[in-house]
Amino acid sequence: MYDRTRLDEWVALRRDLHAHPELGFEEHRTAGIVAERLAEAGYRVRCGLGQTGVVGSMTRGGGSRSILLRADMDALAMTECKGRSHGSTIDGKMHACGHDGHTVMLLAAAEKIAALDFDGTVHLVFQPAEEGRGGAAAMVADGLLDEFPADAAYGLHNMPDLPLGVIAAVEGPQLASSDSWEAAFRGVGSHGAKPHQGRDAVTAAGVFLGQLPGIVAREVDPLQSAVVSACALSAGDFAALNVIPAEVRVGGTARAYSAAMRDHLEEAIGRQAQGVASSWGIEADYRFIRRIPPVVNDPGPVAVARRAVVKALGGEALQTVFPPSTAGDDFAEFSARVPGAYVWLGMGPSVETGVHHSPRYDFNDACMSAGIEYWCAVVAEELGAK
Ligand SMILES: [Zn+2]
Ligand SMILES: [Zn+2]
Repeated sequence: MYDRTRLDEWVALRRDLHAHPELGFEEHRTAGIVAERLAEAGYRVRCGLGQTGVVGSMTRGGGSRSILLRADMDALAMTECKGRSHGSTIDGKMHACGHDGHTVMLLAAAEKIAALDFDGTVHLVFQPAEEGRGGAAAMVADGLLDEFPADAAYGLHNMPDLPLGVIAAVEGPQLASSDSWEAAFRGVGSHGAKPHQGRDAVTAAGVFLGQLPGIVAREVDPLQSAVVSACALSAGDFAALNVIPAEVRVGGTARAYSAAMRDHLEEAIGRQAQGVASSWGIEADYRFIRRIPPVVNDPGPVAVARRAVVKALGGEALQTVFPPSTAGDDFAEFSARVPGAYVWLGMGPSVETGVHHSPRYDFNDACMSAGIEYWCAVVAEELGAK
């Protein structure tokens, strides 16, 4: 098990990061601490990749294999519940997803990995802006995988309600794609009492909204999963309830677990919008905005991850079945380019930790040693450390 005194220091750092949360692309303090610790541990450190991203890289021996381990650093724009000794010191910013814990576990592992006798290259990637702001894509666009080429990518996320210290390593889809769509219905505005003098975009948009759930209900294989939700709607003015507006805007999200399903949702939502518009004699402008792909685990790295769990934590710590999440994680930007394994680290009952993105959530420090040992074991399994 991990050294108790060192662990206390890492827990103190985790609580310090928790008290000083930074939003996506603003992680200057956090990135500074990360860069300093990596340099102290002997890593070649690259800062400023994807704005505030940091990479620590280390090569040992003559082996050509290289692997990427990812942690995320950003907090969320929300206010933490009061009363916690290490609670956020900034109103409107909070580590409500445990990225403070992810950052510290990989930093602690960095120190231990540096003392291992491995053969190959380890890239420790501390990414900014995981929470919907495109941090991973920014790092890739800045040349992450050219400067630090990798044969496999590993990610980890804490999970309330998975037993404490258990790691779920599962093949296939783990998190959904997360895309946005918008449809603007353009009719001809008119007097509310004389609809025949215009072309009613409001009624057309209502029909569209009524049809929308039919995409998942009737076009998606019942044994597969997808989500299409309308989440925003704007039209007209409550100060003018006798005016039919010319335009209605509708927007929402679409989630899928495969590239094919993603393509299908893009086409189907647009088809419904255009079809309804044409049947009502109006126009529709449709946009599907691709944000992040699904996280789909590759069998190769998953097998490595499973061996790492068993070696580091024992067979009882490994869970091989766990349901995918309809949330997204832009770790997908890495695992879409390099075979990847994204695992879930159990934090114990959510009645104690809170659920992700809730004001009372907190990373459970009791799972930290398991995460650290897991990371070290992945390097040992991948690069033959003794
Ligand atoms: Zn989150
Ligand atoms: Zn998260």
